[in-house]
Amino acid sequence: MIGITAGVDEKYERCQIPLAYIDAVRRAGGVPLLIPPTGEGFPPELFDGLLLTGGVDLDPAYYREEPRPGLGAICPDRDGTEIELVRVALERGTPLLAICRGVQVLNVAAGGDLYQDLSSRRGALKHYQDAPGWHASHGVAIERDSLLWRILRTEAARVNSFHHQSVRLLGAGLVATAYSPDGVVEALEGRRGFVLGVQWHPERMWPRCQEFEPLFGALVAAAGGGEI
Ligand code: MN
Repeated sequence: MIGITAGVDEKYERCQIPLAYIDAVRRAGGVPLLIPPTGEGFPPELFDGLLLTGGVDLDPAYYREEPRPGLGAICPDRDGTEIELVRVALERGTPLLAICRGVQVLNVAAGGDLYQDLSSRRGALKHYQDAPGWHASHGVAIERDSLLWRILRTEAARVNSFHHQSVRLLGAGLVATAYSPDGVVEALEGRRGFVLGVQWHPERMWPRCQEFEPLFGALVAAAGGGEI
């Protein structure tokens, strides 16, 4: 059972989640369980692994900053749910894969912080591509022998990019294991267990690019008690 965090469509007052996440979990052999953005946590005994999905910006109050002009939309109920989910998952050792916004939530829940808007960072590449989701717009260098490297078996990959924020100071117990050429953190992981976050969207690259399918396979395997 893989808990998948859902977002809010504020305009239509609906809970929403791109099907690509659900499909990716199913292809990997997991059972998707959607977790609604209620502002509260969710019973951790109901799922074996957690998938934190992409979405709007995290309220900078969670990392002790006031909102700056480059900050985008925020969703307070989603923030409350996801921060609590990560806190409990790290405590319990629940396998966790965090995508895009998810890697930012993971870092902040562990005490780290974010660049509120990458355009304020000198020399930053364009990290919000206009190309389709399957297109890999920039490169990443992956640390050898990291969890990410053990799953993908490569030190160089090309990824899509749909973010305007990124990880700044790392949260406690987390290490950065992939960077884009401009030095932006593109992957984070825990020192123990299965805790992995990527700044790109592997689920959106399927089926044109299948290089990142093993990420979902590894989450489901870890949720089933397997060693990676
Ligand atoms: Mn990027």
